[in-house]
Amino acid sequence: MALMWNRTVDWDNGDWRQMAACRTTEPELFFPVGSTGLAVDQIEAAKKVCGNCEALSPCLDFALATNQESGVWGGTSEDERRKLRKQWLAARRRAS
Ligand code: SF4
Repeated sequence: MALMWNRTVDWDNGDWRQMAACRTTEPELFFPVGSTGLAVDQIEAAKKVCGNCEALSPCLDFALATNQESGVWGGTSEDERRKLRKQWLAARRRAS
């Protein structure tokens, strides 16, 4: 997955993208179509790449902060990230 877009949040200086383990993998792995059948294998394979990625934490932060709804980010699937984002938003509300 090539993470090439511009900054969208103040704290994101983009450095983490240089450490992204997915820079040299097939984008289809990280953006499978659907969540059943072959997509299940692709999601699991993408998560394994994330598991060895130095950018996992900032990648997940970015995905939550910018509400990335599609694909695997920071070792999480779309469904997992939806749940995480609810918790993340609740924590932000409590902190403000
Ligand atoms: S955590 Fe996963 S999706 Fe994020 S940069 Fe690393 S390999 Fe790519």
